[in-house]
Amino acid sequence: MQGATVVEDVVVIGAGLSGLTAARQLHQRGYRVRVVDKSRGLGGRLAARRRGSTVIDHGCRYLTPFIDESFSPIAQLLAAGVLQLWQPDAFTLGAEGALTAAHPKTLYRATEGMSSVAKALAGDLTIQRSWRATALTPWARGWRITGERTTSDNQAEPQALEAKAIVLAIPAP
Ligand SMILES: Cc1cc2nc3c(=O)[nH]c(=O)nc-3n(C[C@H](O)[C@H](O)[C@H](O)COP(=O)(O)OP(=O)(O)OC[C@H]3O[C@@H](n4cnc5c(N)ncnc54)[C@H](O)[C@@H]3O)c2cc1C
Repeated sequence: MQGATVVEDVVVIGAGLSGLTAARQLHQRGYRVRVVDKSRGLGGRLAARRRGSTVIDHGCRYLTPFIDESFSPIAQLLAAGVLQLWQPDAFTLGAEGALTAAHPKTLYRATEGMSSVAKALAGDLTIQRSWRATALTPWARGWRITGERTTSDNQAEPQALEAKAIVLAIPAP
């Protein structure tokens, strides 16, 4: 099914840690933002699976402080209990096989698995899942983003989006 073209201030392509962080910042500053992701789930490489009472992070395992704290969602995620501080004992393995104690690092891990970080970052953002962006074309007032659905359900999704700006938050080919 083909829907109408949607016009936004910013379209963020990719709902991983980068895209969701950027989208939140823009949304909080009053921009009309839409995030698109080719997957059904959110988070990209922030991925976790539950096995009984155990949560296994099979992508990113922990976060380190952001270089620019003004962009960092870590404080909010800590306050919400999504992240917790983690300071494991660290060791360096020398060439001769000896372990020497290293300075503990400041790390943050997710209490309920890393995908919960994506869920918390997504909040009330407009997110279009299962939609792969396939082409970007300059347009009079910005960009036209052409895409395709990646699942074969009957949901009506726009075949193209138009935006004044785009944030590309996908891995390099
Ligand atoms: C096994 C593993 C362990 C790791 N451990 C750590 C760690 O402990 N600490 C750490 O800091 N980092 C770690 N990393 C790296 C970290 O996970 C990544 O740097 C980070 O998650 C990347 O986020 P991102 O948003 O840039 O990209 P991604 O998470 O890759 O998100 C990109 C998103 O874009 C979507 N996408 C791609 N192409 C399109 C398209 N054409 N249209 C629409 N959507 C599209 C994808 O579906 C995906 O959801 C690890 C990575 C792996 C794989």
